[in-house]
Amino acid sequence: MVMMGGGNPGHIPQVQERFSEILHELAIDQAAVRRLVGIYDPPQGEKQFISALTDMLNQEYGWGLKPENIALTNGSQAAFFMLFNMFGGDYGDGSRKHILLPMAPEYIGYADAGIAPELFKAVRPDITFTDAHEFKYRVDFDAVEVTAETGAICVSRPTNPTGNVVTDEELARLEVLARAHDVPLIVDGAYGTPFPSLLFVDATPHWNEQIVLCLSLSKLGLPAARTGIVIAAEPIIEALASVNAIMNLATGSFGAMVAEPLVRSGEILSLSRDVVCPFYKGKMERAVSEFSAAMGEHCRWYVHKPEGAMFLWLWFPGLPVSSLELYQRLKARGVLVVSGHYFFPGLPDDGWRHRNECLRVTYSQDDEQVAKGLRIIADEVKTIWAEA
Ligand code: PLP
Repeated sequence: MVMMGGGNPGHIPQVQERFSEILHELAIDQAAVRRLVGIYDPPQGEKQFISALTDMLNQEYGWGLKPENIALTNGSQAAFFMLFNMFGGDYGDGSRKHILLPMAPEYIGYADAGIAPELFKAVRPDITFTDAHEFKYRVDFDAVEVTAETGAICVSRPTNPTGNVVTDEELARLEVLARAHDVPLIVDGAYGTPFPSLLFVDATPHWNEQIVLCLSLSKLGLPAARTGIVIAAEPIIEALASVNAIMNLATGSFGAMVAEPLVRSGEILSLSRDVVCPFYKGKMERAVSEFSAAMGEHCRWYVHKPEGAMFLWLWFPGLPVSSLELYQRLKARGVLVVSGHYFFPGLPDDGWRHRNECLRVTYSQDDEQVAKGLRIIADEVKTIWAEA
């Protein structure tokens, strides 16, 4: 089976080498070992990591953070569960609020995170064509509606599944909306800036108290360490620490301790910019060129402009079978992808054909396998058209 369905990061030798070195240094230091495995951290997260991150972000970006602005979670996935249910769902005054996703498609991992039903409200994007076989989603601000029932706005930047990067201007407009309605703008930077920088276009790192910036060490190469980072106004961090205490007692120290030297020296930024980003950019370029060659001009196909993350979002307008059927046919041929229809949480079922015409294809793994998988996808799509 060619595995192109998951979100596992690639294995980057230079990054893994750094982790090995740091682990070795920790392992031979008795005091460090005690901290690494023998102590419960406070529910806000490992103190020395938070302090190093506060200093580094203030020095680089002048955000004026205090350690009270940062909490760690066991993976950023856990942070989204906490944040969505803190700001969305049932309020004490009897009202119920939703989380606004201003640009569908969005991350599949949000879909079932609500304790209350129908937590999300999503908005269809504008579609613009950027090349013969390339398109890009943009936020349709005419359709984005923030109301008294909106608890928070959330975007992933870069977006999983599309590889779209919400522009600085779009982000600024979303922030204006959030501020005007006094709700937080949650920015999911799992692939983004300042690290791990799986970004192939410019995107300015941005934070102020209106924003809840969620970062992660996973895509840097530490998915197993389960370390999420939330940067937000103090009352939000205080509440998150309380939820952490209830759910987990303490967060894990492992990721924080492995990454701390990289954060303290600022190396996490150069590693992201000079090693992680080019690794994925190269993979993306090879994947696009392989797929373009395999598809040729045979039928209508588009790829979303790959601006970041580790996915190609393929669109086959008018394909006679749904993306779910295409997924099943590809699985039967030994290629695992994800049908695009899963990535529209919160979008009412309005018969929009587009949501059943897309596939998410992960290109983070072995290049030859990725190329093989892309050739099979192209062949299957052509076969479907030939049968029609
Ligand atoms: N956000 C996005 C957009 C993701 O794609 C993922 C994982 O793939 C996450 C958040 C959660 O990552 P983690 O819990 O490993 O930090």
